[in-house]
Amino acid sequence: MHVLILGGTTEARRVAAGLHPGVRVTSSLAGRVARPVLPPGEIRIGGFGGAGGLAQWLREHEVDALIDATHPFAGTISFNAASAAATAHVPLLAVRRPGWVAGEGDDWHPADSLEQAAGMLPALGRRIFLTTGRMGLAAFAALDGLWFLVRSVDAPHPPYPLHMETLLDRGPFALEGERALLREHRIDVLVTKDSGGPATAAKLTAAREAGLPVVVVRRPAVPGGVQVVGTPEEAILWIQDRQGTA
Ligand code: NAP
Repeated sequence: MHVLILGGTTEARRVAAGLHPGVRVTSSLAGRVARPVLPPGEIRIGGFGGAGGLAQWLREHEVDALIDATHPFAGTISFNAASAAATAHVPLLAVRRPGWVAGEGDDWHPADSLEQAAGMLPALGRRIFLTTGRMGLAAFAALDGLWFLVRSVDAPHPPYPLHMETLLDRGPFALEGERALLREHRIDVLVTKDSGGPATAAKLTAAREAGLPVVVVRRPAVPGGVQVVGTPEEAILWIQDRQGTA
């Protein structure tokens, strides 16, 4: 059996680790990160050339099952996966970690896009902790009255905000460190995607404790008709069921 995992997430690495070496696993990465954390098994890096290219890859490499374990904000590849799986008649499962839920004491401001998030900032504060990643910083570039602390895995490229300090780091992030960042940089607004999961959730707790507003960018739409599970363990079971070994 050959399983293709569309990855770039902790969940994708856990699915690969749970299946390898009993099942042939190929993990696919987009190639955005210079030194990615690699899962066990075979690796391929780079785009497929749209849904058609992915369907062709599935056929040529005799893939028996496709797992879309990409990040909840990687909207394009998930639609490509749904289309390619249908074209190539390959069963598809999506792994989507649940989104975060506001609790008591949270001051969350939902936004439908990075652009909308940027438009909300001048009314909320002056010193912004921007944790939405290095792609999409252009949406904030015109806000020259605000100061940004931008955290990303690799260094961002322009266009980005004029007044900005970059913090190159990769999760998971602990609560004490997040508290210290907010304090030391006198942050008064946090901006995040609703990525979900525990690895990057401590910033939300730190913001709540400090009484800070948080602009939360909502997730993009997901393709309809695709079977979705919330954890890597469920995806591993799905494959084992297909093998008849569960
Ligand atoms: P996207 O907008 O959905 O995808 C754009 C294009 O990148 C796709 O059309 C595809 O190119 C290629 N691509 C995306 N994921 C791929 C994969 N796993 N393997 C091969 N090609 C892939 O995706 P994105 O938001 O740029 O994210 C890129 C990758 O980073 C994803 O794998 C995702 O899991 C990871 N990631 C994203 C975020 C985020 O906030 N967006 C955060 C953490 C990790 P072709 O059309 O040429 O096939």
